[in-house]
Amino acid sequence: MNWISEWALPKIKTLFGAPREVPDNLWHKCPACEQMIFHRDLERNLHVCTHCGHHMRVGARTRMDYTLDEGWQRIELPKAPQDPLRFRDQRRYVERLREAQAKMGQEDAVVVAHGTIEGSRVVVAAFEFSFLGGSMGAGVGEALVTAARLAVLQDAPLIVFTASGGARMQEGAISLMQMPRTVIATRMVKEAGLPFIVVLCDPTTGGVTASFAMLGDVQIAEPGAMIGFAGARVIEQTVREKLPEGFQRAEYLLQHGILDMVVKRGEMRATLARLIGLLRLPERVVAPVAATGEVEALPAPEGPAVPA
Ligand SMILES: [Zn+2]
Repeated sequence: MNWISEWALPKIKTLFGAPREVPDNLWHKCPACEQMIFHRDLERNLHVCTHCGHHMRVGARTRMDYTLDEGWQRIELPKAPQDPLRFRDQRRYVERLREAQAKMGQEDAVVVAHGTIEGSRVVVAAFEFSFLGGSMGAGVGEALVTAARLAVLQDAPLIVFTASGGARMQEGAISLMQMPRTVIATRMVKEAGLPFIVVLCDPTTGGVTASFAMLGDVQIAEPGAMIGFAGARVIEQTVREKLPEGFQRAEYLLQHGILDMVVKRGEMRATLARLIGLLRLPERVVAPVAATGEVEALPAPEGPAVPA
């Protein structure tokens, strides 16, 4: 211990001032137009480019903040079997999974929350693309089943924001089983007479597109979102044809009747609130359910009878 290092050096450092640390993430480059955007402007504009309107990818919790009123709550999800196949490629799957869990602070690639949108109660499930590419394994299936059950329990509409590369290949057939599983889960919501709204975000592909994500009562997408099953290159090689401009983009799908609307991020909240208001009548008319085995009479079709 000597007085130079203990006392004199710190004094000198304060006198001259330590080199100021400049954070290197103050400016973001738009991946579409390559313009630089100041981080505050980007946050204020909900991560939409202020120059070209490109919608950047956002995380699940940011999505909740943008969509729900203040005070939303995250739901604890039931534990799913981790690494049932003991899969390993260059690394063990369980290692990749643990790393993603630690980095993202969540169990799997979907966050489920409940709260309100402009005062209407909703259950929202949002995919986190940064978590192993938002891939759908048993954990994601579990999350969607939980979200659907919660929606039924709370008599609230279910909204799902998707962003996924598809099935989680490290879980093999178990991953594929999540396709029928999530379809059944979202059917539960529909059978309870509750609205099920899907918002397709960039990118939504593979097994997620091929299951519940295309079964919403209303199909919304964010501008420019890539939505498809197989990649464009694979399709081009299979059909041996040049694919049209904008193929698999939200606007193209809207033109071809796959989507109901393409909604800008800034208008998403108001649009969802309006839709919920339209789809949910204050007094829901519930059709009487026939007892087991009893044949339910179908109501006579309205309008003029078809001439024989
Ligand atoms: Zn841009």
